[in-house]
Amino acid sequence: MDKKIIGIDLGGTTAKFAILTPDGEIQQKWSIDTNILDDGKHIIPEIIESINHRLNLYHMKAEDFIGIGMGTPGTVDSEAGTVIGAYNLNWRELQFVKKMIEEGTGIKFAIDNDANVAALGERWKGAGENDPDVVFITLGTGVGGGIVADGHLLHGVTGAAGEIGHITIDPNGFECTCGKRGCLETVSSATGVVRVARHLAEEYAGDSRLKAMLDNGEEVTSKDVFELAEADDPFGLMVVDRVCLYLGLACGNLGNTLNPSSIVIGGGVSAAGEFLRSRVEKYFKEFTFPQVRESTKIKLAELGNEAGVIGAASLALKYAE
Ligand SMILES: [Zn+2]
Repeated sequence: MDKKIIGIDLGGTTAKFAILTPDGEIQQKWSIDTNILDDGKHIIPEIIESINHRLNLYHMKAEDFIGIGMGTPGTVDSEAGTVIGAYNLNWRELQFVKKMIEEGTGIKFAIDNDANVAALGERWKGAGENDPDVVFITLGTGVGGGIVADGHLLHGVTGAAGEIGHITIDPNGFECTCGKRGCLETVSSATGVVRVARHLAEEYAGDSRLKAMLDNGEEVTSKDVFELAEADDPFGLMVVDRVCLYLGLACGNLGNTLNPSSIVIGGGVSAAGEFLRSRVEKYFKEFTFPQVRESTKIKLAELGNEAGVIGAASLALKYAE
């Protein structure tokens, strides 16, 4: 039997697992709830227990695996295999994840942050078509990203490379949780889209269902904004156009710097699909110089929430003989 790899996508509510072949085909999937009680000290023991239980159930042994890879929130030291500052897991203190999982399972282990592993997943088996140069942007509650350049995931000196959410798109823009202003995240995350809508609504005087909802204090989501825009709400279209201008500006500068074969957009907000992609691409073309404009493509993510386990599992391939 060929050796397998295991991918783990650890999140604040669930930990997703998959067993894959070394060429990235998922053979089994399962998940457990993430128990964040007691400073998250049960999380790793429960992951170990779940893996060992699964292996027992299917008569598999540690030797049947090349390795385990995991994506996690927080600041990751992928060399040391540690995580700190993952607040949605209650991990404030340094966690020795690699050491615990290798001791608990007898299988080699590799780790990176969740946005980076999603980038690896989309690059390997999704829209990135396994090209050596791919940028991934995820638009969700926040905005994250990962950069694969010349076939390598970029980490930077402190592991902060690929933090696309903090690219400045407006020096006088909204305050960001990171302490500076005008970050991409403040205008293109799910809450960012609504923030842009509220801001532009102050000056919009025309007829619009979206404007009326905001004025009436109704709850508005980014999904509402995109749906109303798709239904030709004039103010909705204006908001989407502005969000896509910011995204196109950030993508344009990523393109001008890195010239990847594709910039892949994923995450909840990207459910708006081609309606979003085509508008980002329009601005991307405005903000790029000819060689980049003609060679770098703006694409939608293809793997959905499987990108995490697939990309995480790919980390384990470094242990292949
Ligand atoms: Zn920021």
